[in-house]
Amino acid sequence: MFYYMYNTMISIRCQTTYAIIPAMKLKNRAAALFGIGIVLFMGYVLYLSLKPPIDVVIQAGHEGRVRGNTGSETATLREELWNIQVANTAAKQLEAWGIEVKRVPADTSLIRAKVAVAIHFDGAKVPCLSGASVGYPDNNASYTFAQHWKVLYKPYFPFKWHEDNFTDNLKHYYGFNWIKAKKFVVLELGELTCPKQTAWLQPRLEALGKLVAYAIAVELGKEVPKPKFTL
Ligand SMILES: [Zn+2]
Repeated sequence: MFYYMYNTMISIRCQTTYAIIPAMKLKNRAAALFGIGIVLFMGYVLYLSLKPPIDVVIQAGHEGRVRGNTGSETATLREELWNIQVANTAAKQLEAWGIEVKRVPADTSLIRAKVAVAIHFDGAKVPCLSGASVGYPDNNASYTFAQHWKVLYKPYFPFKWHEDNFTDNLKHYYGFNWIKAKKFVVLELGELTCPKQTAWLQPRLEALGKLVAYAIAVELGKEVPKPKFTL
């Protein structure tokens, strides 16, 4: 009897031990994987911080978005397409001047740049209540860049201008978290839902792209010819 009880106890203990060992192994493996993940992530962050920033990032607002904030639109016009056209023209012009550019859509991975610009056109519930504006993160370099842009664009754009950062969207622009740039400005180039403004804007989208490129090049300290912009 005693022998039987002893054997049973041994057996129970062994079974318990066998059950614990695989669980511990599994836990250890998960911990090791987690550790490797952390190390890889830190390595990636270090790599990004050591990599020199590229000259320019140009983002076409809402590009590639199929849900959420997909941008303004009317029966015939879509903001996203205008943003893409202006952003592509600006990028092409900068490249022609020998400036390094990365064109990004609305969603991007973490990227560092000296200058970043996001292209947008506004929409309004009551047509023609909006117009052009600028948004920027809270730093002097971005503020100054935004003021330079206004000085450049104001003599051309014959419609309403809003005060800076006039919506929460502009002040806390989602791209500020992903595109790390010393100078970052979000440009609302006009109102897509105002026929008067779109009649003026549409034939000037290419010229607008070149004007944006010029503003960026000047910000980088490059000497480039000022593009022609007809009123
Ligand atoms: Zn937009």
